[in-house]
Amino acid sequence: MTYQTINPFTNEVVSTFPNATKDEVDNAISAAHEAFLAWRDTPYTTRTAVLGKAAELLRAEKRRYAELLTLEMGKVIAEAEAEVDLSADILQYYADHGASLLETIKVPVALAAEGEVEIVSEPLGVLLSVEPWNFPYYQVVRVAAPQLLAGNTILLKHASNVPQAAAAFDDLFERAGLPAGAFKNLYLPHDLTEYVINDPRVRGVALTGSEEAGAIIAGYAAKAVKKSTLELGGSDAFVVLADADMDKTVEWAVFGRHWNAGQVCVSAKRMIVVDEVFDEFLAKYRHGVAALTMGDPMDAATTLAPMSSQGAADTLAGQVEEAVAGGATAETLGEKAPTSGAFFQPTILTGMNPTNPSYYEEFFGPVSIIIRVKDEAEAIAVANDSPFGLGGSVFTADTVRGEKVARQIDTGMVYVNHPTMVKADIPFGGVKHSGYGHELTNLGIQEFINKKVIDVVDINAAF
Ligand code: NAP
Repeated sequence: MTYQTINPFTNEVVSTFPNATKDEVDNAISAAHEAFLAWRDTPYTTRTAVLGKAAELLRAEKRRYAELLTLEMGKVIAEAEAEVDLSADILQYYADHGASLLETIKVPVALAAEGEVEIVSEPLGVLLSVEPWNFPYYQVVRVAAPQLLAGNTILLKHASNVPQAAAAFDDLFERAGLPAGAFKNLYLPHDLTEYVINDPRVRGVALTGSEEAGAIIAGYAAKAVKKSTLELGGSDAFVVLADADMDKTVEWAVFGRHWNAGQVCVSAKRMIVVDEVFDEFLAKYRHGVAALTMGDPMDAATTLAPMSSQGAADTLAGQVEEAVAGGATAETLGEKAPTSGAFFQPTILTGMNPTNPSYYEEFFGPVSIIIRVKDEAEAIAVANDSPFGLGGSVFTADTVRGEKVARQIDTGMVYVNHPTMVKADIPFGGVKHSGYGHELTNLGIQEFINKKVIDVVDINAAF
């Protein structure tokens, strides 16, 4: 891999960045460790001020930050601006909650002789954050905001196709007043990743990305006996029950599958629709997808962006071919995609069934798998017949019923009547092959904390 900005709208190489050398990596680890020794004892008020300032800078320069996302990975400018806002919201969430998330907990004990027991929250040290390109700022902030608040320091290894977005965070945190070394973007080559994780000063690794990369990185962490969190792929079910408001449901389905050009871990990837309303759903869904407009992602009229790279579009095309070879039917929709740039013609796959080798794959782009089921029970069974367990949604007019169905879906997050509610104050995390651990809110900040037990015993107490 080479760290390069390639504009997916034109497929032109804009700039190339050299890989970090071993010396640069050593220096970054040393600086991050030195920064940690001071940062862990820095008052929370100082830490929250840095996060708050970073949020303020992002909001003040929203357009500039957003344009970089559109340039490097092609998302439409309105979605890029929304990502900048969401990233600022997350920074602000931790700035506002501050020390309250890590308060000391008194532990009730049976006997006075057991002493005064408390659990204090202490940071671990330097963390490696390995992040994907699909939300270049949001993914970084999901780890950096809570962990900087906690007193840890961060080395970032971002995806090789968003090198400028990665570097933008070095600059952002520096301008926000974060001490030097406490956050550092490295253009880390794959073959130095294990070297970083093995360094005794590095105490954990958080990865968001594919299952393949997650297994490799978590393997390095396990060998070095270090904590890891994994936010991996998904093939989220979008369950449509017969009583759902069909027009609104279809609107959410089209959005849920096509925002960020379908490259969202929690995209609605499998529409599971009960027989009674299947034909109506499919007809309206076809219509909704066909109305999407492909074009320049900087143009406000564009509603379907190019994919993040030509490679990503080619991989997806190969997956569709294999699904068809395995027995599925592919139908393309909408106006013909522009011939230059990494565009992908929106595609519906029907006739997918478990004997198709592609059935259990994640399709990371504007490809919708639409499955007919006879009733709610079969919808739940099909939703759960996946190696992944990230998100999912249920659409029904009866929200009590919706909650009951949600409880039976074996994933980390289920939304009733919404495809996926990604917000600063809602936690995020999956199960099964979608990974382990959480990001955001109080759950996220606890991932790289030493919950240290301190017991103060009266030496004269009878035992
Ligand atoms: P990817 O290839 O796994 O890349 C993710 C990150 O891992 C990148 O920084 C990549 O760097 C790095 N990486 C990959 N292999 C590595 C190795 N052997 N050593 C060191 N670093 C390595 O993921 P992707 O395909 O670009 O991203 C899409 C995947 O991420 C999808 O499966 C999606 O569902 C998942 N995702 C999950 C979440 C979540 O929160 N659960 C959120 C977003 C995306 P390079 O670019 O240098 O290869």
